Amino acid sequence: MDHTPPEARVSRRRLRACHECDWLVALPPLYPGQQADCPRCGHTLVTRHHRPAQRSMALAMAAMVALLLAISFPFISFSVGGLGNRIELTQTATTLIGFHQPLVAIAVIMTIAVLPGIYLLGVMWLQLGLLQGQPLPASRTIARSLAHLNPWMMADVFIIGALVSLIKVANLAQIELGLSFWAFCAFALLLLYTTQSIDSDWMWFSLAGEPQAPENARTGTTAASQGLAGCPTCGLVNRLGSGGRGECRRCGERLHARLPHSMQRTWALLAAAAVMYVPANVYPIMTTTSLGQSAPSTIIGGVVELIQMGSWPVATVIFVASVIVPVGKLVALSWLCLVASRSSELNAVHRTRLYRLTEFIGRWSMVDVFVVAILVALIRAGSLMSVTPGPAALAFGAVVVLTMLAAMTFDSRLIWDTPLPRDPDATQGTPG
Ligand SMILES: [Zn+2]
Ligand SMILES: [Zn+2]
Repeated sequence: MDHTPPEARVSRRRLRACHECDWLVALPPLYPGQQADCPRCGHTLVTRHHRPAQRSMALAMAAMVALLLAISFPFISFSVGGLGNRIELTQTATTLIGFHQPLVAIAVIMTIAVLPGIYLLGVMWLQLGLLQGQPLPASRTIARSLAHLNPWMMADVFIIGALVSLIKVANLAQIELGLSFWAFCAFALLLLYTTQSIDSDWMWFSLAGEPQAPENARTGTTAASQGLAGCPTCGLVNRLGSGGRGECRRCGERLHARLPHSMQRTWALLAAAAVMYVPANVYPIMTTTSLGQSAPSTIIGGVVELIQMGSWPVATVIFVASVIVPVGKLVALSWLCLVASRSSELNAVHRTRLYRLTEFIGRWSMVDVFVVAILVALIRAGSLMSVTPGPAALAFGAVVVLTMLAAMTFDSRLIWDTPLPRDPDATQGTPG
């Protein structure tokens, strides 16, 4: 039996342009368990798994079962002084609508259940076709959409939010974890494994083959300097049309030599996030009413309260997620925008690492928003004790979304660009 990977039997070279630094490389044949890294910036270009289709299919099915269990049983129950309340997972979103916070409610239900559900169905649809050796209809559109859904699924962040909420109320009332809570933990873990199991290089090769690489493409220099661009979704290297634009021949994704107006858009999103950060900290994020007495608390106030309770670890989690991460992201991205045009190859490695970090940690700021959603739904014991959401919840949610969008619109290839001509139509590249 022939054990050569199927794509290695393609006689022509398989070229890839690194997403992060635009370096053009030829992929070697990859065996299961191997990965190919960019020689210039270290970004992982392709990771090859054992039996990728079976693996993704099994994980996606298991995650889907766990999600269905998580939405059908009680999530957490709470009781204080004979009064009690038991909530289901979806009530963490629906209760917010009753408090006139529809946007926060939509953000919660989308990130923890709806988008992951759509993602898992998409993965199953794709892999079903690949396992049969005959891609099902709309496979390319689905495969393209999956990559865009990825950063907006936050089941793992929600688990941290649930744990923080439980610790916050643990000494005020009796808490019981329902079956759905454990099912949701399993779901979050399986979802994470599913996203990691997707081998998009193998998937696109199986879905649509490998069209011929553009003529005269040279490796060991940037794609943009040759009028080429790597597709951000399927990886295929394409020749760009006039004005540095084009469309991927394999998946149909729109291509640009560099994201258009990347700096201006990033600056605008950062400015908007900075503005929203003010109400997010000035207004209360939630108000706790206990025996008729209302006590509003801001983000910082909540941290101070936790320290007074002696919950140092939880206070640290909230402080890092709600203060350090968003402020750090604002500062780091602003700095990257400022210095991008004054880069050298040596700095670029560190700057790319910083950029990757800001992209990776952004979603973890949602912890505080999830804490509000859970506490508002859970703590309902009439006049004895209740929690209502404050205006800061929406403002802070907006900060998280805006900084995530800012990181996405920032084109990390700009960090590496300075030694090369900035004009996308230029054909002369500096050898290096
Ligand atoms: Zn690279
Ligand atoms: Zn493509």
